[in-house]
Amino acid sequence: MPMAESMSRSRMEGEDRRDPLAEVRGRFVIPRGLRYFDGNSLGPLTHGARERLLRVVDVEWGQDLIAGWNDHSWIELPRRVGAKIARLVGAQDDEVVSCDSTSVNLYKLLAAAVDLRPGRRTVVCQADHFPTDIYLARGLVELLGEPHRLVLADPDDLDDAVDDDTAVVCLGHVDFRNGRLLDMGELTRRIQDRGALTLWDLSHSAGALDVRLGEHGVDMAVGCGYKFLNGGPGAPAFAYVRRDLQDRVRTPLPGWLGHRDPFAFDVEYVPADGVGRLVCGTPPILAMATLDAALDAFDGVDLGDLRRKSVALGDHFLSLVEARCGGLGLELACPRDGAERGSQVCLRHREGYGVMQALIHRRVVGDFRPPDVMRFGLCPLYTRFVDVWDAVESLRDILATGAWRDERFRRRGVVT
Ligand SMILES: *Cc1c(COP(=O)(O)O)cnc(C)c1O
Repeated sequence: MPMAESMSRSRMEGEDRRDPLAEVRGRFVIPRGLRYFDGNSLGPLTHGARERLLRVVDVEWGQDLIAGWNDHSWIELPRRVGAKIARLVGAQDDEVVSCDSTSVNLYKLLAAAVDLRPGRRTVVCQADHFPTDIYLARGLVELLGEPHRLVLADPDDLDDAVDDDTAVVCLGHVDFRNGRLLDMGELTRRIQDRGALTLWDLSHSAGALDVRLGEHGVDMAVGCGYKFLNGGPGAPAFAYVRRDLQDRVRTPLPGWLGHRDPFAFDVEYVPADGVGRLVCGTPPILAMATLDAALDAFDGVDLGDLRRKSVALGDHFLSLVEARCGGLGLELACPRDGAERGSQVCLRHREGYGVMQALIHRRVVGDFRPPDVMRFGLCPLYTRFVDVWDAVESLRDILATGAWRDERFRRRGVVT
């Protein structure tokens, strides 16, 4: 194929015309001229979430006050939102609950998993896991005291790391740094064959690909509400527990709203049925109602289409980088094969921080992870193929002209 035809903006426009998810972009508030590749850190606002938040503030809270708990079913939101998320992660409606942050849910489920495997004292955690996962696992084993211990292991070496002392193995479905997608079915089976429980962190996969917790018999999972689920900054997270484990799960944070009958105000704690017991205190209704509405952006979206588009966006991104940015100091930092990649592409550059700042200055927003990785999240709900083209063209220009050398692109904010 001649270059002009195989690599051109008009070819990307053709991809957009054939995209079965093209319409879904209209559900989002995307600022004009912005190419947004950071939905894996903070998903954008949807029109529906905005309207819902305003209504909850003005009417449900503003006018109806305390009656909102019953009249607007606020009290049911953790389970209702959980049921919406369940479809996106291949679980049953009653296997997911929305509450707390990913970090807090992780702690609750790690502790519950250790409790479910009496006599086993080891927690295994992916060595290059998102740090909060490692901190929490370490915090738990330190609290439990010896002989409990934490073992950090590479996902490729689990056969060595997991033995008959392992209570639970905590893995990230998609690696936040390099976008690597782990084989959930295969790893879950190998871990369970050794009698341990699996706890998957879906922060970088829920809402971006066709997660299949039920099909793979996963025991437990947690995930994030503000990344690919677009619930807004600090949105509530979620927790999943396989149905047949639920009634044996003991949370280390048995708060009153996880009680079977909170308004009996009984001093004896009796856990609620199922995953509802993982709720600890009062749900943040403004945030949870916003997440609830944001999830409607997935209405009618086929998860197979979602995954296919995500892979295609990444494949095009990387092909364009190879074709247009050769010799400009970039190195691939994610799997080239779409089947092994989550919904982000990562490139390494010696001055990655400055290059990303220069891109952001041109309204192409990705992010940077030390020491030298530029990340581009590819959310299939609103990212267009032409956005990918425009991003790579900006990147090429910045590298070719050395625009990143500008002093203002060296300053670092508190949040990167
Ligand atoms: C984003 C992310 C979290 C975030 O946890 P919070 O409690 O919401 O701050 C946790 N784990 C992973 C793997 C993540 O990517």
